Amino acid sequence: MIKIPLYLSIIKTFENLFCMQNTLEKFDRLVRELLEDESKKPVADFVPSGELYSTLDLSLSEEGVSEEAFEKALKELVFKTPRTATNAFFNQLFGGRNEKAILGDLMAVILNNSMYTYKAAGPQIGVEKVILREVCDMIGWDTNADGTFAPGGSMTNYMSMVMARDAADNNIRFVGVSSKMTVYTSKESHYSIPKNAAFSGIGRDNVRYVPADDQGRMRPSALSEMIEQDVKNGFQPIMVNLTAGTTVLGAFDPIRPVRDICDQHNMWLHVDGAYCGSVLFSERYKHLIDGIELVDSFSFNAHKMLGTPLSCSIIVTKDKKHLHDSFSNDASYLYQTDHDEFNLGKTSLQCGRRNDALKFWTLWKSVGTKGLAKIVDHQFELADVARNHVRNNPDYTLYSYDESISICFNYKGIPARSICTALYEHAELLVGYGSFGDDEFIRLVTINAQNETEDITQFFEILERFVAENEAVLLEATSH
Ligand SMILES: *Cc1c(COP(=O)(O)O)cnc(C)c1O
Repeated sequence: MIKIPLYLSIIKTFENLFCMQNTLEKFDRLVRELLEDESKKPVADFVPSGELYSTLDLSLSEEGVSEEAFEKALKELVFKTPRTATNAFFNQLFGGRNEKAILGDLMAVILNNSMYTYKAAGPQIGVEKVILREVCDMIGWDTNADGTFAPGGSMTNYMSMVMARDAADNNIRFVGVSSKMTVYTSKESHYSIPKNAAFSGIGRDNVRYVPADDQGRMRPSALSEMIEQDVKNGFQPIMVNLTAGTTVLGAFDPIRPVRDICDQHNMWLHVDGAYCGSVLFSERYKHLIDGIELVDSFSFNAHKMLGTPLSCSIIVTKDKKHLHDSFSNDASYLYQTDHDEFNLGKTSLQCGRRNDALKFWTLWKSVGTKGLAKIVDHQFELADVARNHVRNNPDYTLYSYDESISICFNYKGIPARSICTALYEHAELLVGYGSFGDDEFIRLVTINAQNETEDITQFFEILERFVAENEAVLLEATSH
């Protein structure tokens, strides 16, 4: 065996250390500069997509570039990127920058474990398991329950559909789908449901869209009728997907009556809580998912209401047998050794899997369950502030309801998309629009728990000033 002289190995170690130090300093510098710029300028300059490649040098070349050119290119890119953590970003269902969660995610990058085996991830497996156990306990499930992390709410929904399919017929994973299975979800649910029906072999055409009531919640009586009709026509109804926090109105579908319907037909019940399932952590708002202990699976995104960096998506199921049946390549979970309890690859969609649990753990560890509750409650308080502003001003029309963190409104009858697009292009505010029935409206989401009342008030001040200064232009745009 050739022995490397000790001094060479020491030099190598110092070299590595020096490079990493350099990188960390660069990172530190870039982040400081960005934060300073964000505090003065909460919205990045608008870069029209048609001008992207002429505005920024994104090109890649045969030869690398100098350190200076590299840092300059990176800085320009970072500075022109949409700022999702500021008090002017209300566009999607995430926002803010929770420093404890960020620390966890940065550590996950440095450690770079893969979560499939205890051998490769060690105590990080425990981090994930502790979170899943706590969540199952909070729901009220026993040790038979378990869960996993997946790369997003669309994928946790996908996992629920695969489990529902296999629970209906455990042979499908070997021979494929041959029966005419149907799944049910409300008209207001997320678009991943039909996509997942395609992925799972059930088929997009076999998704039934159940009508919602005037507040955007699934109507159980309509569901029941649709299922009965399908059974008459020779279909096999296998699952209902409910939503806790619909994408547009933030409505919560009723769990208990739907559970009864599922029991009558031996169907799987999943709750897609990607947006607002985190009300589980709040004593004040968990009544919105009343009956959650009765479902077969439940998913939520910690990167939405709880404010961890993207992505941090959890699915839990009442009976872990289904996770193993659908996602393990081994025969049955019953025959696994204790050790396999620590080999999370046996219950996951992926093989190599990044550590999404650590950022949630660092957050939860530091603020406690009460701290998570505060984060959730604060978003509802901000929503009340926004709703009151809309209600108390005759220039506004409100379309959403209480106990929702989506505040949907129109202002002075101006089409929502004209205002939203103009605000974006003028780098004033990032906010989106949505529709319910025949109405289209601006959708303000108070999901960034780092915002205060003043930030919400300021949102409306900016909007109102902008419209006052550009009213003619906005109305002109409308009439075409
Ligand atoms: C955001 C969302 C999803 C999708 O989650 P991703 O993490 O973006 O894939 C699914 N359902 C609902 C209700 C959502 O709001």
